[in-house]
Amino acid sequence: MLSEQEARDRIVGVVSPRPERTVLLLDAVGCFSARNVVARVPLPTFDNSAMDGYAVMASSSGKGARLQVIGEQPAGIDRQLRIAHDQAVRIFTGAPIPAGADAVVMQEDTTREGDQVVLNVDVDPGEFIRRRGCDLAEGQKILERGERIRPVTIALLASQGFADVTIGGHVNVAIVSTGDEVVMPGRKLDQGQIYDSNSTLLEALVKQSGACVTSAEHCPDQRKRLIEAIQRGIKSHILVITGGVSVGEHDLVQATLRSLGAKIEVWRVAIKPGKPFLFGKAGGCAVFGLPGNPVSAFVTFLQFVRPAILKMMGANDLDLPKTPVRLAVDLANDGGRTHYMRGRIENGTFMPIGRQESHALFGLSQSNALLRLAVGGSFKGGAIVDVQTWD
Ligand code: AMP
Ligand code: MG
Repeated sequence: MLSEQEARDRIVGVVSPRPERTVLLLDAVGCFSARNVVARVPLPTFDNSAMDGYAVMASSSGKGARLQVIGEQPAGIDRQLRIAHDQAVRIFTGAPIPAGADAVVMQEDTTREGDQVVLNVDVDPGEFIRRRGCDLAEGQKILERGERIRPVTIALLASQGFADVTIGGHVNVAIVSTGDEVVMPGRKLDQGQIYDSNSTLLEALVKQSGACVTSAEHCPDQRKRLIEAIQRGIKSHILVITGGVSVGEHDLVQATLRSLGAKIEVWRVAIKPGKPFLFGKAGGCAVFGLPGNPVSAFVTFLQFVRPAILKMMGANDLDLPKTPVRLAVDLANDGGRTHYMRGRIENGTFMPIGRQESHALFGLSQSNALLRLAVGGSFKGGAIVDVQTWD
């Protein structure tokens, strides 16, 4: 049986990044930049007013000063105005600062009298002026190769005049859930049957990772049907199968994959939940066989499938986000496999939640973090540890 790390290294070693592409900004959210990008326009782009008010010379201004208003400077056009001592320019938010001015007095602190304005406050140089480049300098790095593109990232790219961005490759995933007992939600449930929750779970997790789901189908534990489902599934970049990867007579996935010429690279991993896990290659497709138990499917997806998807998409960080928490109770792993304990973080404290068994979907649904307990590892209540999060 492979260790969790060996399994993950093998998987990440086998899959490779898909070809990069250039897309419109909005189509890049959730994807990964294929380039280091630097600012080509400073932010602010020019000195401009942070307020509606009057542009003044601080040295000739102060409480009680009366200034001659020589013109108006709106946003969107540079009127090339220049002020001298005892002069002001009526100015609006975002408008360029006239030559000679070094402060803006906000409208609320002034009294307008014809073509003059009286200041009701003292003025410091620089007040309410947003200086060119004070937020972002030209040439400064704004996006790293492999960094995930978020709504704020595309806003920044837009501010630079970029209409598109070059990102890592597109990844599509086929999902096959197996099991004679498994029935699609919405149908009637007979004795002995259960609803398919894994397909929904996996589809959502694939999308959350940034990949696309090409198909999600159910297949009974029948060799012929499984062959057909696998043949369809391996047309995608990744095929994720759940159930049927264990060692019972009805677990046909591994033998069927082998009969179709797949090369199995990983089979059984020392991880709890999730031991009966399989990874291989069928032609160009990366095939994952996840255990049917929902919590095992969840944990193995996050630890093994997600990093593969991210690598193929060109990400530089394949790990789940980590956050430090205070443990509510003592925890130990006396078993022989790395244990991923489901728990809930509330107010910075992590508490195991629900039954820690691989079928216990309700407990999983209440959790928002995974604590990794290495073999023989233990933590005292009150200790600060890192947990993985996914939401
Ligand atoms: P298996 O890995 O096929 O041996 O299945 C292990 C357990 O997971 C069994 O109790 C199955 O009934 C259950 N299971 C299998 N597939 C699913 C599924 N798609 N949704 C929910 N539970 C499942
Ligand atoms: Mg089964």
